[in-house]
Amino acid sequence: MQALTDLTDAELSQLVAENGGKAFQARQASHWLWKHGVQEYAEMRNLPASLRTAIGNRLPLRRTTIAKSELATDGTEKLLIGLHDGEHVECVIIPEGERTTLCISTQVGCPVRCVFCASGMFGVRRNLSVGEIAEQVLHARSRLEAGRRLTNLVVMGMGEPMLNLDALLPALQRIHDGNGLDMGARRITVSTSGYPRQMEQFAAADPSYNLAVSLHAADDTLRKQLVPTAAHPVQEIVLAAHRYFGQKGREVTYEVVLLEGRNDRPQDAITMVEVLGALPCTVNLIPWNPVEEIAAREGLRRPSAQRVDSFADALRRGGLKVTVRRQRGADRSAACGQLRLRQADPANG
Ligand code: SAH
Ligand code: SF4
Repeated sequence: MQALTDLTDAELSQLVAENGGKAFQARQASHWLWKHGVQEYAEMRNLPASLRTAIGNRLPLRRTTIAKSELATDGTEKLLIGLHDGEHVECVIIPEGERTTLCISTQVGCPVRCVFCASGMFGVRRNLSVGEIAEQVLHARSRLEAGRRLTNLVVMGMGEPMLNLDALLPALQRIHDGNGLDMGARRITVSTSGYPRQMEQFAAADPSYNLAVSLHAADDTLRKQLVPTAAHPVQEIVLAAHRYFGQKGREVTYEVVLLEGRNDRPQDAITMVEVLGALPCTVNLIPWNPVEEIAAREGLRRPSAQRVDSFADALRRGGLKVTVRRQRGADRSAACGQLRLRQADPANG
């Protein structure tokens, strides 16, 4: 079963037509849904009651709810989104000066199973639908203080976006669309753990979104320890990323989650410079947000600020542009996937 939020404009027009409505009424319904964020058909005031009832009998308006929210002292708000089948995903609202960034999920869990990540701990349960992805933006918007709006979107929550492009691309279209949520494509960034074939498919999408690639290590053996299911060599991933750059003119960002003694050693920086040094890109260093269950099991630690600085300096000496991500929402379950982990869910043991 679907919800109204799963439909493309063409599908919505067809549904409205099948129930005796006119084309302009489909546009009105779309406006109520995405611009005004109504939660009930009854709120679509300029549509005839008979049309609202007929459509409502066919499809629910939305199929997700905010199951829980947690506000950190720095203003970061994490929403636990309840899905119709009892599953949960997370999205995070990150206010920063004039900017408000929303981080959304694409899958329930994640099949990639990076050793340091809470989202991948139990593998993947299922893909999110178009509506389940886009509704996260509607929920987040409803939480903003008056006068604030969502300025940026990052697809960096639970799941591997490239493994659910069929739902992600139409959802982003909705989010970008002037009749929808109206967010500029330049303000939308999708992060992947590296799937060259799907990155090519993503490159074919119009408009052009930003791409971030979670590299973590430039050496294949080390990368395989951190991303155990990684099927593609670093060289192939880097090639695909720069082909994206060539096609779209967007600079690629590489993300590196730093783990003490595992991938933050001087040698790791040297290898990274060898692989990326000559390419137009930025490396974003993310000191690991500890996940208790994982820290104990895998013996992982967040590196000290000093170690992070040394790694950053080594990359810069090699000619790379480097940024270091500040920790946000640290007084709560900071890293994505952790709120869901703490949710009473039998599958999470
Ligand atoms: N699956 C995609 C997008 C979701 S993860 C990807 O891996 O890129 C988004 C980013 O959060 C990735 O760079 C990932 O490495 C990082 N991340 C995951 N768990 C983290 C943690 N506990 N601390 C810091 N960063 C983490
Ligand atoms: Fe999946 Fe990304 Fe987490 Fe890796 S870091 S397990 S790819 S969500």
